[in-house]
Amino acid sequence: MDETILVVNCGSSSIKLALFNTSHQKTASALAERLNNPDARARIDGDDTPVSLPSNSSHQQALQALVSAFEERGLMNGKPVSIGHRVVHGGEAFREAALIDAHAIAAMEDCAPLAPLHNPVNLIGIEATRTLFPDSPQIAVFDTAFHQTLPPRAYRYALPEQFYRDWAVRRYGFHGTSHYFMVEEAARRLNRTPATTSIISAHLGNGCSITAIEDGISKDTSMGLTPLEGLVMGTRSGDVDPGLFDYLASRGVSASETHRVLNQESGLLGLSGQTNDMRSLCELADHGHEPSTLAIDVFCYRLAKYVGAMMASLNKLDALVFTGGIGENSARVRAQTIQHLKLLGFTLDAELNTHHGQVSEGHISDADSRFPVLVIPTNEELVIAREASRLANVN
Ligand code: ADP
Repeated sequence: MDETILVVNCGSSSIKLALFNTSHQKTASALAERLNNPDARARIDGDDTPVSLPSNSSHQQALQALVSAFEERGLMNGKPVSIGHRVVHGGEAFREAALIDAHAIAAMEDCAPLAPLHNPVNLIGIEATRTLFPDSPQIAVFDTAFHQTLPPRAYRYALPEQFYRDWAVRRYGFHGTSHYFMVEEAARRLNRTPATTSIISAHLGNGCSITAIEDGISKDTSMGLTPLEGLVMGTRSGDVDPGLFDYLASRGVSASETHRVLNQESGLLGLSGQTNDMRSLCELADHGHEPSTLAIDVFCYRLAKYVGAMMASLNKLDALVFTGGIGENSARVRAQTIQHLKLLGFTLDAELNTHHGQVSEGHISDADSRFPVLVIPTNEELVIAREASRLANVN
């Protein structure tokens, strides 16, 4: 049996694991959720029998249980040759993936105040895998690293210089692993090399961001200091007037409460008053639920505005690319967004937009469109597995 690369994506109450062989084919995956809760549970994808976890299972216990379950099912051959971790924030310290050593851990801890919901749990995942596999090399792949090429005009806020110098207040950008995969995959489909390919990449999942990539390099992106800025998202507001904080304070809403609402109760959920799930929203809108129609309208209009904004950072454009659960699956969102972009020359083929992928390698624009429009499924785990083998010198 081939050796295994383990990919770990550790969230505050969940762990997603994926196994790859050294040819970078995915061989298995698993999910543990509701960790540190009485009803913690876990399963291996494609297997009906749940993996049993103790009540209030910790990340460490869940990891141990899932690895044992992989082994019992013959899915894993000994210890992994390399372990790749998704880490949300690498600040300015990490321009690319890094081998995890004491120095890297200290740098990740330094970034924790920038991503208090994410980096500490990423570190818990790293510690848990290190306990289980002390001899396997561990690699961190950062959501922010791909965007470290942004020029100052794109990453600096118009704030006093001291904010940047003393407190690292700048735009970082996220979803970098997915945007990087988009330019690689778009290049392949357009018969180009990534280093000569320029795209606008719209990653639309529960979190949403859009990135301008010129000749393989990130030039601008919609998320900022935190993953709250930019597009409308499932529960996040995206851009709002920062004056909102002071105004709401005058109404008795504290800054931390406003921040919580902007992150957890806004976006598609806030506008519709029903759900953050785009599929459900489309069904509600089809049945005449006006707040859901409005939520989709605001989502698509903001996205179209950002496509226009991203063009300011590019000298050429080879394709606009949609990805993420919404970008890959919602023909309605794609069509409605492109409707706003007629003046820029984007037009869709309605038939390809509905049945993309089967015949056209994801092309959904028509012959008149000034730029190709593509739908490409993202694969962040594959990028992490590849980086894990590269940095651990596997093969
Ligand atoms: P995450 O950011 O959590 O990885 P995903 O990339 O899986 O999220 O995207 C989740 C979103 O994709 C949800 O809003 C979901 O409704 C939407 N989605 C998935 N399938 C469809 C579909 N067929 N039509 C519309 N939206 C869809």
